[in-house]
Amino acid sequence: MHLDSTTLATRAVWAGEHADAETLAHASQIPLVRSASFSYSDYDEWLAVAQGTRPGHIYSRNTNPTVAAFEEKIRSLECAEAAIGFASGMAAISNTLFTLLAPGDRVVSIKDSYGATSRLFLELLPRIGVEATLCDSTDHAQIEAEVAKGCRVLYFETPTNPTLKVLDIARLAKAGHAAGAIVVVDNTFATPINCRPITLGADLVVHSATKFLGGHEDAVGGTLCGSRSLVQRVFQYREITGACLSPDTAYLLLRGMKTLALRVERQNASAQLVAEFLRSHPAVGSVHYPGLTDDPGHEIARKQMSGFGGLVSFSLAAGTARVGPFLKAIRLAHCAASLGGVQSFIGPPETTSHVECTPAQRAALGIPAGLLRYSIGIEAPLDLIADLTQALDKPA
Ligand code: PLP
Repeated sequence: MHLDSTTLATRAVWAGEHADAETLAHASQIPLVRSASFSYSDYDEWLAVAQGTRPGHIYSRNTNPTVAAFEEKIRSLECAEAAIGFASGMAAISNTLFTLLAPGDRVVSIKDSYGATSRLFLELLPRIGVEATLCDSTDHAQIEAEVAKGCRVLYFETPTNPTLKVLDIARLAKAGHAAGAIVVVDNTFATPINCRPITLGADLVVHSATKFLGGHEDAVGGTLCGSRSLVQRVFQYREITGACLSPDTAYLLLRGMKTLALRVERQNASAQLVAEFLRSHPAVGSVHYPGLTDDPGHEIARKQMSGFGGLVSFSLAAGTARVGPFLKAIRLAHCAASLGGVQSFIGPPETTSHVECTPAQRAALGIPAGLLRYSIGIEAPLDLIADLTQALDKPA
């Protein structure tokens, strides 16, 4: 059955599940195939598989049936021609950028990318002679102007981490293509349930699959989706760097992704309620959520997203001094660095996404002191609001 014409919720369940019917015989769930290599007693068959003229697997650093099923599921969800898995989100991002960029090239991105991605732009890519220009993510005109000066790659996240700014994918993809750039979008926060950048003009999409895709905080993985030719280039680079996804992780991701649409729809609805609640509470300063009608990103989000996502950021009116006691009082969220799981997570950028920045660097990125990033799980929203209420109302 061709699944790309079905709805995303159906693809989340079924895509990839028949990916390797020949190898996997009649299993109704994709089995975990841990084999590092695949054996052939027939030389002609082995040669045909090795040369790619016959389906099959040779060595699991390159391809593996369980990983292939994961790749097919995310490919279908992202409406892409091809997808490959990686050992982590950062493996996907770094392998992609190092494949596409060579000494003398220029990349344009935004200042408030995920911390380790920023370090690629500020530390590792300059080491090989790649110039990185990082723009203000709220200033589309500045990004367009920098792109128009010429660049090989335009790279951005939307919504951004941790202040949830929304960038206009169609507008920026147009600017990127006019300059001959490859446009790469990190879709980790939105998920393909809420936004599909390739349908809006992006060339490539990367994910930390560790987050919403897996959804259960038990698997670190990443993925790249896009055109067959670009994904193949990155695949050939990954064959050498060996930053492959393990079959065990692919198995967990496949299981998690079956409920992706259900989870994300619940998280979207709960995040809206939580954001509106936080907005009304006197102990809360700023609230950042693209679903709030007066949020600066709301109009773009309405245009390009089918849901506003499961993350809300907010600052405490009393500032940084209240962060410690507030986190101690919270009962229904892990105080931890991750996000996108079935359980809620909460943490400040100085211990999570922007741990490596100085306070001055965080301020320059527009991250207010005392900000908290709250990743809403699938708990009952009224319980989350009750938990926030008791923590916010605790006397100082
Ligand atoms: N992209 C975003 C938006 C992230 O939030 C993260 C991690 O938090 C990454 C990429 C990196 O992913 P990973 O931790 O799986 O390497």
